[in-house]
Amino acid sequence: MTALLDRQELLARLQSQSQSQSQSQSHSSWDLVVIGGGATGLGTALDAAVRGLRVALVEAMDFAQGTSSRATKLAHGGVRYLAQGDIGLVREALHERAAMLANAPHVAQRLPFVMPGYHWWERGFYGAGLKAYDALAGRQGLGGTEWLSTRRTLELLPGVNPSGLWGGVRYWDGQFDDARLALLLARTAIARGAVVLNHVAAESLLHSEGKVQGVQVRCQESGVAITLHSRCVVNATGVWVDAVRNMDLGAAPHRPMVAPSQGVHLVVDRAFLPGQHALLVPKTQDGRVLFAVPWLGKTILGTTDTPRTDVPREPVAFADEVAFILGESARYLARAPQRSDVRSVWVGLRPLVKPAEGGDDAGGTQALSREHTVRLAPSGLVTVTGGKWTTYRAMAEDVLARCMAAGLLPQRAGGVTVHLPLLGAAPGRPLTEPPGEHLYGSEAGVLRALPGAQRWLWRDAESGKGGLSEAMVRFAVRHEMARKLEDVLARRCRLLFLDAAEAARQASAVAEIMAEELGHEVDTAPFLALAAQYQRLP
Ligand SMILES: Cc1cc2nc3c(=O)[nH]c(=O)nc-3n(C[C@H](O)[C@H](O)[C@H](O)COP(=O)(O)OP(=O)(O)OC[C@H]3O[C@@H](n4cnc5c(N)ncnc54)[C@H](O)[C@@H]3O)c2cc1C
Repeated sequence: MTALLDRQELLARLQSQSQSQSQSQSHSSWDLVVIGGGATGLGTALDAAVRGLRVALVEAMDFAQGTSSRATKLAHGGVRYLAQGDIGLVREALHERAAMLANAPHVAQRLPFVMPGYHWWERGFYGAGLKAYDALAGRQGLGGTEWLSTRRTLELLPGVNPSGLWGGVRYWDGQFDDARLALLLARTAIARGAVVLNHVAAESLLHSEGKVQGVQVRCQESGVAITLHSRCVVNATGVWVDAVRNMDLGAAPHRPMVAPSQGVHLVVDRAFLPGQHALLVPKTQDGRVLFAVPWLGKTILGTTDTPRTDVPREPVAFADEVAFILGESARYLARAPQRSDVRSVWVGLRPLVKPAEGGDDAGGTQALSREHTVRLAPSGLVTVTGGKWTTYRAMAEDVLARCMAAGLLPQRAGGVTVHLPLLGAAPGRPLTEPPGEHLYGSEAGVLRALPGAQRWLWRDAESGKGGLSEAMVRFAVRHEMARKLEDVLARRCRLLFLDAAEAARQASAVAEIMAEELGHEVDTAPFLALAAQYQRLP
């Protein structure tokens, strides 16, 4: 299965299939139009395409440019939910964790975690909880929980603060490259017949007799407007769902569905957390969770949970969030990271869902998970948001079941993506290592055949391995629909997230290669401004 499709070709397909509707007028050209190309929308488009439906997806910016590239990158059941007694939710997420790791082993893998104990009771207490976590995972467990002596804890987690350490607990979860997984979902959906496009925004909804009949979209590059007539429209725009809901029937604004919550990550060198294990502190001094996770040759520290009332595209960290992460890291790491050690700071917005009230769109369902919500408006607009990356596939099944139950889509059996390898699926090297060819899985051969496979623009300085090659930039444009400098440096290659100053240094070299591939100049200024933001601590 390949999906080495050209974006121009996809745009032409979107136009021609939509025009055939205006000529026939008798039936919609699309069964389903999905608005939003993050984990939720892409998962939904893929699932529907595999079921044989005619599917189009439009993403206003780039795939995963919203929340889906800014996660902690853990494929997890949620130890926190277990503590809250939410067994069903944990079991579902553990099932989804297994599916993700099996279907995309080149970008999603198991990862051992150590919880260090600093009180005599912690090791026993947390270990018992994690044994229950193992039991819930059953045969889908990734490795058994173990109680660790102080000596063994220091061996596995050489970067941990030894002072006052009372042993620890080791357990297993998963980690992934969120933006690359999103790209694989998009490209696999295309290979299955869907038309999936980035840089195409939904501008308005089409209605007929009070019902949603399609979407008016506009290509952000060419300015071309296209009318998509569809039986069913799914709004999967994450924290932005309320803006799309407000397009519905042009009526008075709906009561907001989402209460955004901001999460900040700081990236520092691997030297702060050597070894192959992640560190989890389940309860910091003020009762929060702290992660230090080895990822693509660096260490991710995070995160926070700060309510916001606005939904900016590029949220900025607050000073107290940075102080919390650095302060707590200093307590648990032997070498305390300083502000000057931070290589990149990135911020995501969680789409937390407010409970439904009676009125315009009552009837919220949380059929599979208390974390995500599907709402069907009287117009037939279906909105799905909340949840987490790990459960994107279950969310897709849930939203399609809801569309079918409402008669918006023809009945087709579900469960088709549980065992569906994504493009390039092949066992890869650990995701703790710097980015490299291993992230391309079985498509590495295609990458190697491109000009510049041996020309490294950037090499990981700490390990001397991996990095960004000229061929990776060409692959991003030819096969992964990269259009802007940021598309390459933030999401196809994760350099902006790993080391923002280095990403800025690579901007002009990458722009030159992209210009050759695209046949036009590529502006570096917007990316340089963004890279400056990712380097700046409040
Ligand atoms: C700090 C943080 C850490 C997290 N860590 C984890 C973790 O470790 N593991 C985990 O499982 N989950 C994690 N999550 C949760 C997970 O990242 C989100 O649940 C998930 O990414 C949400 O995906 P989404 O597709 O719903 O939203 P998004 O990814 O935001 O996608 C919505 C898309 O809609 C597009 N859009 C908006 N308006 C329009 C329009 N008019 N037309 C077309 N497109 C439009 C946007 O550009 C955007 O790309 C974390 C979240 C945060 C914030």
